[in-house]
Amino acid sequence: MKRLEEKLDAIGNTNYGHYKRLKGRYSFVDFHFELEHIQGDPFASPSLGAVSIPISATGFPDEWLADKNGQVPLGDFLTRQLWAHFQGMPKLTGSGNSGYFGIPCPGQQILQRSSVVFTPKNMYVRFRLGLPAEGRRIHSESAREMLFGLMPGFVGQFCFYNKAHHEALETHIRLYRRQMALRKQIREAGLIAFVPDGAILPRASGQSDKPLNSKNTVPFKSPESMRVSFKVDASLTLQGMGVRPGVHLIVGGGFHGKSTLLRALETGVYNHIQGDGREYICTSEENIKIRSENGRAITGVDLSAFINRLPFEQETRSFSTLNASGSTSQAASISEAIEAGAEVLLMDEDTCASNFMIRDEKMRRLIADEDEPITPFLFRVRQLFESCGVSTFLVMGGSGDYFSSADTVIGMKNFSPHDLSQTAKQIAFDIGGDGLPKAPHAQSFFVPRVFQLRLPNNPRAGAKIKVRNTDTLRIGDWFVETKAIEQLVCREQLNLIGYLLKALAQKNMELNRNQLEKVVSETMSYFFTHLADIREDFAEVRYLDLMSVINRLPQLQVVSVSEKNENSDSKV
Ligand code: ADP
Ligand code: MG
Repeated sequence: MKRLEEKLDAIGNTNYGHYKRLKGRYSFVDFHFELEHIQGDPFASPSLGAVSIPISATGFPDEWLADKNGQVPLGDFLTRQLWAHFQGMPKLTGSGNSGYFGIPCPGQQILQRSSVVFTPKNMYVRFRLGLPAEGRRIHSESAREMLFGLMPGFVGQFCFYNKAHHEALETHIRLYRRQMALRKQIREAGLIAFVPDGAILPRASGQSDKPLNSKNTVPFKSPESMRVSFKVDASLTLQGMGVRPGVHLIVGGGFHGKSTLLRALETGVYNHIQGDGREYICTSEENIKIRSENGRAITGVDLSAFINRLPFEQETRSFSTLNASGSTSQAASISEAIEAGAEVLLMDEDTCASNFMIRDEKMRRLIADEDEPITPFLFRVRQLFESCGVSTFLVMGGSGDYFSSADTVIGMKNFSPHDLSQTAKQIAFDIGGDGLPKAPHAQSFFVPRVFQLRLPNNPRAGAKIKVRNTDTLRIGDWFVETKAIEQLVCREQLNLIGYLLKALAQKNMELNRNQLEKVVSETMSYFFTHLADIREDFAEVRYLDLMSVINRLPQLQVVSVSEKNENSDSKV
């Protein structure tokens, strides 16, 4: 502390660039403080500081610190408290970001974040601070106030155990543990989704992920035939709708809540905070939203299950384009998802290509199957489940063609679900005989690929990574649109993907699916424990979402595993 004071005195009221001399690690009374990165001028993005405290000195009960099930919600809680505290701080005067303290704004999900990290010995709390200036000169009075007044103040208040927060923290940690326990029970019961009675599904608006708070909000109530219950712990038993693997339709009139239910299933891969309304909605973590996405890049993907006999005999066992059509993009996303290990596909008619989803009898009579390159999803959805074990949830209000392929049909009426499975089956039988659409079985849904992450124009070590919300990612010259990856919930996740991708590209490797998953998980844990090297804001992200980004990279290069084997054989 004294050393920092002396350094600060030495550069007092000189040129702003001299702040760089403060880079380093300093001892305060009961914590260490490291200035990891120092901004070049008062208007640049703020500097990065990290406070570290030996875990044993934090005073938090051992039980909360023992494992990830305690550390993740504890870190999440501290992040939320600090964020709220920083929001309420009066702004110090000065130019640019002078006097700013900030931490990435946490959304509705409880996630592992780089803002609070636990290593075996220490707890690190990382935040941004705008080193103060007057014009372009160092404002040492304010800097003193920040570093020796405000900072020890909030560190003392929030980063150590504080009796005043005990109850709220205990509740937060208990919630997370219950969520994890429920996930395990749901998996063991063989379910792919659970929506508890009383859950609030609709959101405040398209822009806000907070619950819709209106007197007209209808809480979820499960249909009796699908009702299951779980005893999560001694004092919590939940009852709600349980869904087994299979093909599931969500039908109902427009505006009756179909898309809202699907969206709740998509976000059920995350644990939500108390008061969110989705606290105990749990879905298989290997679930992925599939949609059509005009214009995306596709690299070496097997589309043959859905698209064949293209004009000019374009090959579809290994299809590449920089500008996919609606149906092609959707076929590719399915093939990629299965390759990456997805167990559940979620689709909403609102964002699907209609020629990819259905093809009715009248059209089949007019245009013969031989003249139609697209085999719609309708003809594949059962095979996908029966031979690959991949389940589907499909919102389909406009066509009954899927009735005969469905295991369950959930009808939404006035925002409440009803089990219409039997009625729908009967209708399919009455109108269509045995009803199951016929098409020759698909040979394969994907051909395993080897990802060649040694691209000709790999980003250099110094390449900058830029993300805009969850919409776009730039790594040096690479640019990917990620807006259609709807299960990314915050920019820190995309940022982590950016750094993972850059690290992978620099390793200059060829990786098959399993190798890639291993390298990703190793690199991810390295990042979370070596934050000082990286100086970035991260949040945990699923492997499936990372793969969705890799698969959209226009510069990606792959070879199929079979091609690769042939090549290596020929060398022998
Ligand atoms: P659909 O897909 O069936 O056309 P949506 O799911 O888009 O319908 O829902 C239509 C509107 O109703 C949305 O504005 C949504 O926020 C609202 N909504 C959905 N579920 C509920 C609910 N349980 N209670 C109140 N409003 C809801
Ligand atoms: Mg809809």
